[in-house]
Amino acid sequence: MIYFDHNATTPVLPEVMDVMKQAMEEFWGNPSSTHSKGRQAYAQLEKARERLAAILGASSKEIFFTSGGTEADNLAILGTMEQFPAGEVLVSAIEHPAVYEAAHGLISKGYSVKDIPVDGHGVLKTDELESMVTDKVKLVSVMLANNETGTIQPIAEIGEIANKKGITFHSDAVQAFGKVPVNVRDLKVDLLSVSSHKIYGPKGCGALFVRQGTKACPRTFGGSQERGIRTGTENLPSILGFVRAAELANSRIGEESRRLTDLTNLLFSQISGRIENVLPNGHVDKRIPGTLNLCFPGAETESVLASLDQEGICASGGSACASGSISASRTLLAMGRRKVDAVCSIRFSLGLGSTADQVTEIVEVLEKVVSRIRTVNG
Ligand code: PLP
Repeated sequence: MIYFDHNATTPVLPEVMDVMKQAMEEFWGNPSSTHSKGRQAYAQLEKARERLAAILGASSKEIFFTSGGTEADNLAILGTMEQFPAGEVLVSAIEHPAVYEAAHGLISKGYSVKDIPVDGHGVLKTDELESMVTDKVKLVSVMLANNETGTIQPIAEIGEIANKKGITFHSDAVQAFGKVPVNVRDLKVDLLSVSSHKIYGPKGCGALFVRQGTKACPRTFGGSQERGIRTGTENLPSILGFVRAAELANSRIGEESRRLTDLTNLLFSQISGRIENVLPNGHVDKRIPGTLNLCFPGAETESVLASLDQEGICASGGSACASGSISASRTLLAMGRRKVDAVCSIRFSLGLGSTADQVTEIVEVLEKVVSRIRTVNG
């Protein structure tokens, strides 16, 4: 099996499993209990918060653990807008559904929601954003790196535009975190979401950074865990696994990033050398390491993926959440791809286990698959 779908999810690293096993065996107390077993778990939880804060350049008081990227995104969008009886939200047109749907769902509650356009490389048009920030706007949300194309956004520049107008700024860093440096002060964000399972940690765990002084209203109600913003007994084994995974990922930025960039460039050059008419989706340089999204006009995503799967190759049509019913990607359409081409796009996302031999093998299979499907389609 060749797994080139690391943006969908990653396997849990053995070091992370060890930490989680130890947590389940030793630190199973409820962090809210005042007795010694609870205090032991609480100490681990708060240490983990400090460790994650250190990676993000934040203070531990600004970190709120969640059940993953989706919950962090929902909390950022809905928790911010909850405090305003009316107003406008601006989101990039290429946001993950965890942001896009949360924001657009606010329309039924009377809020206004507008999409900020991107250019042909999937990079946000900051000049358009500047003209869209009126007094009505309460929140801007733009992802750090896109899950389908890997394109990195000029977040610090966008943060400056929002900060100048006193508008709360959220960034979904789920795909960027652990792959490129993410520092909340440098990025000028008020809110930032991260997730564990994209970086070789367990599924169902993540965090939201909330800058001190930024108000986020809770979306769940119960005890006073996570200082009341995200209630419910903390999932300590997963949190400890997530933070270990984050530390490991952070220490790999540099060498592993270069290796993945080289491998992805090799994949692109081999594919474009062997298959005619291949169009890259996304920015060729401003990209997180490991992600390559290509359009093969005339070869539909579904047929290509099914044929690759038969050969033991796992890739994706874009967002895993949308797979199973592959329709034209909103991200690719927003970038100006024609619908007929958008439905012929494949995302390869490489990771720790990816090698040059796998690249060679994939290219050989892909050449045959694309040629056969194009012939059948005439
Ligand atoms: N945001 C982005 C950019 C993602 O790629 C994903 C997952 O694919 C999410 C949010 C959702 O994160 P999670 O799966 O942890 O809920």
